[in-house]
Amino acid sequence: MATKKPAKIASQKKGKAWKRSCPSCENEMDMARVLRANGPSGMYWLCQNNSCNTLVTTAGAVAGTLDI
Ligand SMILES: [Zn+2]
Repeated sequence: MATKKPAKIASQKKGKAWKRSCPSCENEMDMARVLRANGPSGMYWLCQNNSCNTLVTTAGAVAGTLDI
């Protein structure tokens, strides 16, 4: 029997849940691997607006802004 693929992969292929707009400036966000000193590191949505840099967790919660 073929192994059933996780639903996550299927939604990626559709190109849906893989793009997100920033909750504060509505710019496009991209997935980024973020290392944080004061919080958990891992994959976050990062706002592509350089003056915003809002971080959102993969679960959709705002995780503050990235200090660059
Ligand atoms: Zn933003």
